[in-house]
Amino acid sequence: MNPGPETPTTPQDVLRTTFGYEHFRGDQAEIIDHVTRGGDAVVLMPTGGGKSLCYQIPAIVREGVGIVISPLIALMQDQVDALEAVGVRAACLNSTLGPEEVRAVEQGLVNNEYDLVYLAPERLVQARTLDLLDRVRIGLFAIDEAHCVAQWGHDFRKDYLGLSVLAGRFPRVPRIALTATATEATHRELTQNLELDGARHFVSSFDRPNIQYRITEKNNARQQLFDLIRTEHDGDAGIVYCLSRKRVEQTATWLRKQGVDAVAYHAGLSESERAEGQRRFLREDGVVVVATIAFGMGIDKPDVRFVAHLDLPKSIEGYYQETGRAGRDGLPATAWLAYGLQDVVQLRRMIDDSEGSEDFRWIQRRHLDAMLALCETTDCRRVQILRYFGQEIEPCGNCDTCLNPPASWDATVPVQKLLSAIVRLDRERGQRFGAGQIIDILRGKENDRSTQYRHDELTVWGIGADMSEVSWRAVVRQILARGIISTTGEFGALVLTPAAGPILRGEETLMLRSAPDRPVTKKSRGR
Ligand code: ADP
Ligand code: ZN
Repeated sequence: MNPGPETPTTPQDVLRTTFGYEHFRGDQAEIIDHVTRGGDAVVLMPTGGGKSLCYQIPAIVREGVGIVISPLIALMQDQVDALEAVGVRAACLNSTLGPEEVRAVEQGLVNNEYDLVYLAPERLVQARTLDLLDRVRIGLFAIDEAHCVAQWGHDFRKDYLGLSVLAGRFPRVPRIALTATATEATHRELTQNLELDGARHFVSSFDRPNIQYRITEKNNARQQLFDLIRTEHDGDAGIVYCLSRKRVEQTATWLRKQGVDAVAYHAGLSESERAEGQRRFLREDGVVVVATIAFGMGIDKPDVRFVAHLDLPKSIEGYYQETGRAGRDGLPATAWLAYGLQDVVQLRRMIDDSEGSEDFRWIQRRHLDAMLALCETTDCRRVQILRYFGQEIEPCGNCDTCLNPPASWDATVPVQKLLSAIVRLDRERGQRFGAGQIIDILRGKENDRSTQYRHDELTVWGIGADMSEVSWRAVVRQILARGIISTTGEFGALVLTPAAGPILRGEETLMLRSAPDRPVTKKSRGR
């Protein structure tokens, strides 16, 4: 694959003869043409859209080597193997190589023996590497996962900031930055930080119409997940995301007991265990991977039929990227998420406790708020997701809220009761409690703590006995999501925010999404 001047090769030829595809997809042809002619490009394309070819083909067609910068060291070898399998001369240069191998690749670079070489950002910015590259004939730089350069993004990496040196140091080499997760803000920031002001921008539609988005309330998430698999995805390949390694392990074990071919995947497993899990998922049919979000970056399996989240993702970007791994083949696929009150409490606490600047935490909170708003919306999920990425569409007809429009109900009075209970406890007794105890007080349900603290003497004791515990939890979750209350301290005690004032004073009506089980169990006892 060394198209010298005597064998002119076109992008179309390479697409057909090397990669075995007939047609370019979406913006691919235009992007490839632009970069092959030496132009800079910023490419926003959803996961599975076909970003790799956008730099691989120009790298093959252009004289010199294409240098690909990617943060995913673990996947580089796979990418190199896949390219070599179709006859492309590729290599990677990263910390997994021994000194001998490094020297061989470096020599190959100087001798113009490669079409593509993958590098991690931290290596690229080393003086030694830059000096080496000065002696190499470079056809282009491709900056993959370019959102990592944006601090606004959900996946910021310091090393990426160093990539701005490329513009000044190699002014004649075209650069193409690619990402699947770009809001307006991220897009602007990455363009600026990579000094790509003169680049052409290619923004694909982010819609994945074959993915059905569904977000449901959590009540025994494992069982809900198993029901989904059994009734709709029996024998299908899928990915189940959990927040912690422990939950990954427990969920995988439990699913196996139910007869699902599930494997666990997280950073705490040995390299060989992870490789084996990944291999089975890719090569065998109907394997379900239960994983932390460490799994999936760069994994290309077209027939993943469902992606399930058992814990709330931290941002819409993350959610979109993870769900985007479903249905890359264009056939129907399900993105299913179960979330509950505990998720909100836990994620808020993780942000509060996290290291880093207050600005950073502020950004994390905005990301979570947007994710919660998506969960609690009564509008089309797809409209909300795409609006987040700056795209307007009509309601999609292929998400849970389109298919089963949720009823909303006037929750002003119950919420006033709840807010009063929190205020009374705090003001009259200086006590703060988490959602569980507040709900028991409202429902007049005795427990050890209500006896110990004589909660049954409170005027708010039992004033919410007309609603089930599940309904109350849904109310707490939703007003927590909307910022009417928040949690504090190690145990997630509930406190009011300024937004609670107008509701308590009866100046505002509050409509909430109906919980599916909201049939009121007992007749209201009145106040
Ligand atoms: P992304 O990096 O945008 O997530 P990939 O580059 O991994 O997407 O491509 C996703 C899948 O689509 C891969 O299996 C790839 O081989 C395939 N693909 C890409 N372009 C084309 C095309 N023009 N025709 C057919 N398949 C394609
Ligand atoms: Zn919809």
